[in-house]
Amino acid sequence: MKLTLIKQQLETSDVITFSFQPDQPVTWQPGQFIKYQLPLDPSDDRGESRYFTISAAPFENEIHITTRIASEHGSAFKSGLQHLQAGDQVEASEPMGEFIVDQLQAGHVFISGGIGITPYRSILAQAAHDNQMPSIALLYANRNDQFVFKSELDAITKAHPTLSITYLVEPQRIQLADIQQATQKLQKDTPYYYISGPKPMVEGFKQTLIDSGIQADFIKTDYFPGYKD
Ligand SMILES: Cc1cc2nc3c(=O)[nH]c(=O)nc-3n(C[C@H](O)[C@H](O)[C@H](O)COP(=O)(O)OP(=O)(O)OC[C@H]3O[C@@H](n4cnc5c(N)ncnc54)[C@H](O)[C@@H]3O)c2cc1C
Repeated sequence: MKLTLIKQQLETSDVITFSFQPDQPVTWQPGQFIKYQLPLDPSDDRGESRYFTISAAPFENEIHITTRIASEHGSAFKSGLQHLQAGDQVEASEPMGEFIVDQLQAGHVFISGGIGITPYRSILAQAAHDNQMPSIALLYANRNDQFVFKSELDAITKAHPTLSITYLVEPQRIQLADIQQATQKLQKDTPYYYISGPKPMVEGFKQTLIDSGIQADFIKTDYFPGYKD
């Protein structure tokens, strides 16, 4: 399908949301992603396509990419994205991915590192819109206090008491004790654990959870390659 850029919106000093109108009806589940192709001129050896989570919720009827723009050594792809004007088109795949919430009655601990918040933004915005917020404890770690989507997430938390959010700024890091505390808060048997962020972070937390006795079937991961931390 083709997506037409509607607008770019600065979320923090280095994170932008790109909003697109699809040229055909598209359905997706909150947490899914799309592969995007840009005609790049000039290109680099890092490729002309990328995967991005749809940070919009389905009820919003637009496709949103929310991404960090590197201050140094950014790719031609990201530069091409930034140079898009309203009305420009990009090529996109159908939505795909399993990082979705399908057990609404269960408890969920969401672990997020930095821009890894994008699938949770879609999941939480849709749950709030449907007024069907599962029991969720979100642990959201970031390198500074510019948490992407913070005001919106805080508003959702205020309106939906089954959601709680703990923000951690570096050098604070999410520890096993934080995850255990979040689990207790849910007051649900055998919750699901979702982990989203840079690959090393996601793999590290998955191993920590498995080592602490959580079964792999109860852990879902979504890792973003291409970011170092
Ligand atoms: C399922 C899935 C969902 C994803 N969802 C998102 C999302 O919602 N938001 C998002 O931002 N990303 C997401 N990603 C990651 C995304 O696809 C990109 O990999 C990521 O944004 C990095 O983009 P980039 O490669 O254009 O690098 P840039 O963002 O331009 O650069 C990132 C850093 O990589 C370093 N670097 C890496 N390779 C090189 C190289 N060859 N030469 C020089 N420097 C290099 C640079 O120093 C720079 O600091 C997702 C990935 C997957 C697989």
